[in-house]
Amino acid sequence: MKVYLISKNTLEDGMSKFLRDRDLSWAHDNVCDPELVVEAAGRICYMSFGDKQHRKTTKEYISNILRQGHDSVLEHASFTILVDGLTRALSHQLVRHRIGFAYSQLSQQYHDESAAEFVQPHGLDENPELKTQWLQWCAATRAMHDSLRSVNLKVSAFSHLNAKEQQRHSRSMARSVLPNATCTTIMITGNARAWRHLLSIRGDIEGDIEMREYCVSIYQLLLNSSPSLFSGFEIIEDGLGRYVRSTCQ
Ligand SMILES: Cc1cc2nc3c(=O)[nH]c(=O)nc-3n(C[C@H](O)[C@H](O)[C@H](O)COP(=O)(O)OP(=O)(O)OC[C@H]3O[C@@H](n4cnc5c(N)ncnc54)[C@H](O)[C@@H]3O)c2cc1C
Repeated sequence: MKVYLISKNTLEDGMSKFLRDRDLSWAHDNVCDPELVVEAAGRICYMSFGDKQHRKTTKEYISNILRQGHDSVLEHASFTILVDGLTRALSHQLVRHRIGFAYSQLSQQYHDESAAEFVQPHGLDENPELKTQWLQWCAATRAMHDSLRSVNLKVSAFSHLNAKEQQRHSRSMARSVLPNATCTTIMITGNARAWRHLLSIRGDIEGDIEMREYCVSIYQLLLNSSPSLFSGFEIIEDGLGRYVRSTCQ
């Protein structure tokens, strides 16, 4: 699995214009824009600019927001991550996170899956006999997929469909045999509160190795991009690999 940071939000000059219009000042650090947007949003709540600006650094300001649980302010920061080479099984778990996330996933109707890859489950290498069976089963699945992909030419009930809809139908039939292990690609935009929630409930589940790897990968991207918004987590290593653990009480 590979993860890529695609975008994050920016602080435009509207904030400076607003401050000028109100004759206010805001002394802030030279940090990433999502952190500045969050600080600006928090300060708007109390209009704590100029004389009323008590906490000086953005880092201190954001850590205070996190400590107080003023979490809705974190929703103003957003990060778009592209995930490539994860299983359909993992992607199904990810899209269960409904709040604060947007998803765009590779289609199995519009994309030809005859060259689909399968992600080998963790631990299979330790059992060569089982691994051989798993690989044989993958090959058989792919063969079945390819047979079904050409089937609607032989099903008269669908012969009136135009070429595009025939293709959609045949790919729908064919994908019915593709397993949870099928490789997929998904682009996910989430706000900082949503990403933190995901890391805190998914990052350290012992038996879910792919989810752990996913959480470690996105946590590293997010932390690198915004150290203050993603403070309060740590990466731990155990016999199964690495995972993300919340350090907040
Ligand atoms: C260990 C584990 C096992 C799981 N097993 C299963 C399973 O067997 N079957 C299954 O279907 N799912 C399972 N899930 C998925 C789980 O039920 C959630 O759907 C998923 O983790 C998303 O979490 P969430 O609802 O907190 O996130 P989001 O959907 O992003 O919601 C974020 C938060 O918003 C609030 N919220 C969201 N929607 C509502 C609402 N309608 N009403 C009130 N508050 C709301 C809640 O506080 C929620 O925590 C499992 C998850 C874990 C971590």
